[in-house]
Amino acid sequence: MLRKELNLFSFKDLLEFYPFRHIDKTSVDKIAALSNDSEYTQVAGVITDIQMIGEKRTRRLVAHLKDDTGTIELVWFQGISWVEKILVIGQRYLVFGKPGFFMGKPQMAHPELENYTAENADGKSHLEPIYPSTEKLKAKGITGRAIGKFTGELLKKLSENDLPENLPVPVVKRYKLIKRYDAYRHIHLPASELHYQHALRRLKFEEFFFAQLSIQLIKISRQRFSKGSVFEKVGQLFNDFYNHQLPFQLTAAQKKVLKEIRTDTGSGHQMNRLLQGDVGSGKTMVALLSMLIAADNGFQSVLMAPTEILAQQHFNNIKQLLVGLPVTVDILTGSSKPKARKLILKNCEDGSATILIGTHAIIEDKVIFKNLGFAVVDEQHKFGVAQRAKLWKKNTIPPHILVMTATPIPRTLALTAYGDLDYSVIDELPPGRQPITTVHRNEMARPQVMDFIKEQIALGRQAYIIYPLIEESSKLDYENLMKGFEEVKSFFPEPKYWISMVHGKQTAAQKDANMQRFVTADTQILVGTTVIEVGVNVPNASVMVIESAEKFGLSQLHQLRGRVGRGSDKSFCILLTGQKLSRDARERLKIMVSTNDGFKIAEKDLEIRGPGEIEGTKQSGVLNFKLASIVHDKVMLEAARSEVERIISEDADLILEENSPVKEYLQQQKGKSLWSKIA
Ligand code: ADP
Ligand code: MG
Repeated sequence: MLRKELNLFSFKDLLEFYPFRHIDKTSVDKIAALSNDSEYTQVAGVITDIQMIGEKRTRRLVAHLKDDTGTIELVWFQGISWVEKILVIGQRYLVFGKPGFFMGKPQMAHPELENYTAENADGKSHLEPIYPSTEKLKAKGITGRAIGKFTGELLKKLSENDLPENLPVPVVKRYKLIKRYDAYRHIHLPASELHYQHALRRLKFEEFFFAQLSIQLIKISRQRFSKGSVFEKVGQLFNDFYNHQLPFQLTAAQKKVLKEIRTDTGSGHQMNRLLQGDVGSGKTMVALLSMLIAADNGFQSVLMAPTEILAQQHFNNIKQLLVGLPVTVDILTGSSKPKARKLILKNCEDGSATILIGTHAIIEDKVIFKNLGFAVVDEQHKFGVAQRAKLWKKNTIPPHILVMTATPIPRTLALTAYGDLDYSVIDELPPGRQPITTVHRNEMARPQVMDFIKEQIALGRQAYIIYPLIEESSKLDYENLMKGFEEVKSFFPEPKYWISMVHGKQTAAQKDANMQRFVTADTQILVGTTVIEVGVNVPNASVMVIESAEKFGLSQLHQLRGRVGRGSDKSFCILLTGQKLSRDARERLKIMVSTNDGFKIAEKDLEIRGPGEIEGTKQSGVLNFKLASIVHDKVMLEAARSEVERIISEDADLILEENSPVKEYLQQQKGKSLWSKIA
């Protein structure tokens, strides 16, 4: 039962099934004092009556509890037969729950009950833990309180030896952490609020520490065991391109990152680097220059993009940049024709393809390389860790890997979730970019917005109009898109205006053709869904209209906005929404209007949504902390990380005496020997 309902399998799980709050057992509220904003409370009184009301699905058990100030109604919809058994008229109970009011009368649904005995009313300072339970468990009498009793029993049986210290003593001292054994006791049954706070602090630190440690250990073992190809020199290809064909000066940040990559790829170790940079910061150029260095050293490279549109765009762009240089650039996607595919596969295998650009089609088993030395994964969040690992296997010595994020993720999050990767950041935009003006408009203002687009088109600019696509297959979303398309057409009649439409139900060829018409300015307006979200680069576009903007997440909005403001013209982002907005949606729109800085937006996003929801980190279990929060305990996270980094750099094998508790704990975790199963 515990197993299925709460995922508790062992004593350890039970110990780590933490209470979500405590109540002071000595504090019993008077019924008359309850109010609408009372949180969980405890009242004590005598049951005056018990009734069964309603039929079938509306059937419920209603009882009244009376103290010397008033009466409260107690209601159960589930687990009725169990409650009936224990509830006796005239008996005293201690009742715990969250009160509500119905027609001005206090009420409590599914409260927890306990006989009111001298023992639990003795006035000793007892903070009682409150655990989550489920209706099913409650129906069997396993309330949160019952779970607390199991845990209490378990804690009584354990001694300090069962929960030995697992952190290095100097760390425990430095951060003034309480003993592990004490922490478990006081997190469940604290002697006082202060004890509880100390317990919480210790256990949070432990969570951060071991999460960081395991990820850092993965990194170190990889660095040790995975040899990397050595890029000895910067050769003629790079220099010719850099000196004669690079269309602009690199920003200082681009140069810095390039240097980091250069150092890594010359070291003999395999590089695994995460490159963060805001939308439009010029990550692609860094990738291209790195691939040229690979080519200078006789290695092939791949650049993997999340969509065909983007792969195609990279291909066109890079091919054009490299024109005249002795480099073969190929493209391979899911829709490559069999004949072309065959040729490309051959080129990859015999080494004549220098740079291969594509979608995930390039990691299929059939694609074999002669000497793959460098792999770029663009817009990382669309790729899973498994796909990254597949890239490694493409060469006997695994290629160096550069993972580029689509929109920034907060530094703390990046270092936590991707702590096994090295970290680079481009923290400046190329010069001359004008900040994008962002406004929020009610959809009533759509005609004015369309007029504004007309003005911009008259100036020679182009515009995007984006509709939400929540689910790839959702019919409703497509209907909305088509309706929107018709509406846009009525504002912008042919032949004065031409419109492209791009969405996920088109074939790759259709998508590409429509996109291409927009790129070449054959059409002035692109209506589409978020398939255009990442990476698309049309510098002449100056307006981004996002329909139903409240339905998009922050990083998506920022990514979409990043499609404009790529040229030297003033650009605009218009967020259209309905009248009714949730608080979160309002907050998101406010942030978008107030800043263009992707790193700031990422921090806010993390605050609003929490780490679990941030794209690209869902699968990476490292963020599933039970107590700690990377948003609220950031300082502690940094402290734990710096301790881990120090330990790893001084003593990666944990040989030092002071690190032996850590080593023993890790070994014990592997064996899980101490913890017998819950029967
Ligand atoms: P992102 O980092 O979002 O992938 P891109 O690599 O697509 O950004 O670059 C955005 C635009 O900025 C491109 O048109 C690119 O050619 C241009 N760009 C990149 N680096 C520089 C630079 N140092 N100076 C001027 N323009 C640059
Ligand atoms: Mg990009």
